[in-house]
Order: sequence, then structure tokens, then C-alpha cells
Amino acid sequence: MNPKEEFLNQASLKAADITHRDKLRFNISKYLAGVAEGKKQYSNLDLARRKAHAVKWKAIESLDNYLMEFERNFLRNGGQVLWAKDAEEARNLILGIIEKHHGRTVVKSKSMATEEIELNAALEAKGIEVAETDLGEFIVQLAGEKPYHIVTPAMHKSKEDVAKLFHEKLGTPENYTPEQLTMAAREALREKYVKADIGITGANFIVADAGAIAITENEGNARLTTTFPKVHIALAGIERVLPSINDLALFWPLLATYGTGQKLTVYNTLFTGPAKESEAGGPEEMYVILMDNGRSDILADVQLRQAMHCIRCGACLNVCPVYKTIGGHTYGQTYSGPIGSVISPHFAGKEKAGHLSFASSLCGACTETCPVKIDLHNLLLYNRNLFNKEGYAGSMEKRVWKWWRKAMLNRSLMNMASGKMKNFMFKKLFAKAWGNDRNAIIFPHTSFNQQWKKQHGRAS
Ligand code: SF4
Repeated sequence: MNPKEEFLNQASLKAADITHRDKLRFNISKYLAGVAEGKKQYSNLDLARRKAHAVKWKAIESLDNYLMEFERNFLRNGGQVLWAKDAEEARNLILGIIEKHHGRTVVKSKSMATEEIELNAALEAKGIEVAETDLGEFIVQLAGEKPYHIVTPAMHKSKEDVAKLFHEKLGTPENYTPEQLTMAAREALREKYVKADIGITGANFIVADAGAIAITENEGNARLTTTFPKVHIALAGIERVLPSINDLALFWPLLATYGTGQKLTVYNTLFTGPAKESEAGGPEEMYVILMDNGRSDILADVQLRQAMHCIRCGACLNVCPVYKTIGGHTYGQTYSGPIGSVISPHFAGKEKAGHLSFASSLCGACTETCPVKIDLHNLLLYNRNLFNKEGYAGSMEKRVWKWWRKAMLNRSLMNMASGKMKNFMFKKLFAKAWGNDRNAIIFPHTSFNQQWKKQHGRAS
């Protein structure tokens, strides 16, 4: 199966999986209730969102300047900055640093950028032990899965699923409560922090004027990941820039509200470089790797560029009817949901992920919710147009849509086929795409015009 067929197959299986949908509905309902509370902290939320849009616009329009400003300031703070043009270069840079420091064990805090470059597999292939320390990431790592959601990686698991998993992998009793499970994870991880040679994180924001990266988290695991190991490596996509430290006053609460429904995330940390002499803990060396990996291509397209404003809050996933039906793994890409469907085809190539831009109802719920006002559903349409111009749709599909358009614009053509014929054609042409889990459309035997005439005694 090619990636599109695989996607359609998985999507139809997941759409019919009621247990899966119930778990998602439950977890998303908790999130939505939290977001409604979090939003109450704003006297003018729309103004905050417009300001955030303007700050990200400024950052992205002058990205080269801000990145160089960050580099200058971070170097001055004693850190090191490396640039990676793609995933392979990013992996090699990280492996090189680990090798240089004779690292054998790594602790990691949550980072979608490291997922993007499939870092864990690369490290494990070299015999390096990797421990995910974010609870959600810890759960999916134990399960041998990839993150299901960009903010809540284990959203698809119920507490019973997690208890069963811990029972099988860690030997804890099967009836453990969420609190007990959290304590079990904490116990499993504590020793790893202390013994790890290298700590790896992502970066929520790259702060240009402070020469710092900002990390926001709820468990304190990112702080522990960067406190004990002698080396801290942070991998960040180049678009994560904020011009000024003052911008965090707007972005930290916005990310917390839309990401998890909190007023502010529990731990918000600025990392400005390796530990100073006066500091008790912290790494002796700190590296920030600025990764492109397809971002420049998106930046080069004036229409698409706004996709780089994304702060990865995950809100568009949680309101998307497609995501809520098929779930995160079905997308087969690091970034799922509406934002994933916009950017993944440009990161992974349209052959591998172009179909995702077509997997949308175009209802606009994503655009309506996005805290930085990215015009997501129109970007999906833009991608479709772009890919079709590049020959993405086959000639058969193009012909079908041409006929469809012709028929839809011509009442006599539409009425020409009888209901019987329409039902036959539907079965022949669309039954497979329609799937077995939905009731087939049954066309009436008489046309709309005929029915209208019968009811009103005149033509419509
Ligand atoms: S596109 Fe908007 S809503 Fe979606 S993850 Fe990014 S910032 Fe959040």
C-alpha cells in the first residue's frame, strides 16, 4: 500500500472504533473544559491573539536577523550554536556531541523536533540508552509507540490502559490509580536523571534578545533533564523565534491556555547557556541546534509562510472533526491534525504526505481556534491547489471532477439520469471510498424538480 492507501485504510478502521473514539472524546472534553476556564484570565482575548499574530509575523518576516541575534547573544552567554539543514544533519550533530563526551545514556524531555528527526531510533542504533522523561512520552515509549498528539502524547490511552501497560512493563499492580502510576513512573525515572550523561530537550521559544531558549512544562522533568547531565543539547526548529524576552508575557499564558487549559504552565524556564560558576547545578556545556528541515521551503512561499507562526499548542487538533475521528497515529507523521496536514507534506514530501491536505472537512474550526490566527483551512486549500498544479491528482480523478462540475452546473444534465441509474453509479464509483461503516446514499427515484413540481404544482 502507498501512504495514501495506508492512511485511508487506517482512517476507516479508526473511524469505526467506538472505544477509541470514546477515549478521545473523554480526554478532549476535559481539555475543552480547562480551556474555557483558562480563557477567563483575558479581558480581551481577541486582542491578545491579534498581538501574538503580529509578533510572530514580525519574527518570521525577519527570521534571519533574529536567529543571528540569538546566536550572538547565546555565544556570549557561553553556549554553542549549531545549524542543521535537515534531519540527517541534526541527527549527526547530536550523535557527534554525544560521542565527543563519551555519552552512553540520555534523558530527554518532550520535544516534537526530536520526534521529527526520529532521534531515539538513531541513538538506540548506536547502543545509546534513551529515557523519555515526560510522563506522556514515558508511556508511549514503554508502549513502543509514537506520540499521538503534539501536546498530550498519550491522549489515546485511558487510565486502565496505562495501568495495564505499567503492570506488563514495570510489574506494578494492575489496579493502580493514576497517582500511584505517576509515582511508579517517577521512581523509574529518578535514577536515570542522576546517571545520565546527556540531557536533550526541545525549545518552545528561541528568545533572540536574551540569547536564551524557553521551555514550558508541567512536571519539572525538563529542569531535571538539564540539571544533572554534564551536557545539554536543545534541538529547535528555526521558526520558534520570539524577538524579545518581553514577548513571553504574552506567549507563555497563551500557550498554556490553548495547550492545556491552564492560566500558566507550572514550570517556565529560560536557559541562557551552561551553568555559571555561582550555580550549584546545570550542564558544563550547552548546545542549541537550529534546524531547518524543510522550513525554508515553507518560508519561501509567501502564502504558506504563516504556518511558521505555529506555537504548537495543539488546539487545532482538539477541535478538528477529522482528528477526533481518526486519531493522531493515522496521520503517519510527526505533526498531525490541521497544522500537521498543512506542514507535513512540505516536510516529508507530497508523495508521502500530500494526501493529508485533502483529509479535511474545511469546516474552519481550526482557524477559529488558533491562538496566533493562522488561516489553517485556507492553507489546506492552498496546498490542494498547489499539489494539483504539480500533477498530484491523477487524470481519472481530474476527469471525474470535470464531469461532476459540468453536471452540478446543469440542471437538465443532473435530471437526465434516473434515481436507479444514480444509485447504480454511486455503487460502482464511490462505494469503496464511502466505506462499509456508513449507510450508503440512496437517491430518490424522482429528481428534485419533479418532487417540487408535484408538491407545488409548478417548476422550481
Ligand atoms: S496551528 Fe495554531 S492551533 Fe494549531 S498547534 Fe499551531 S498555534 Fe496551535
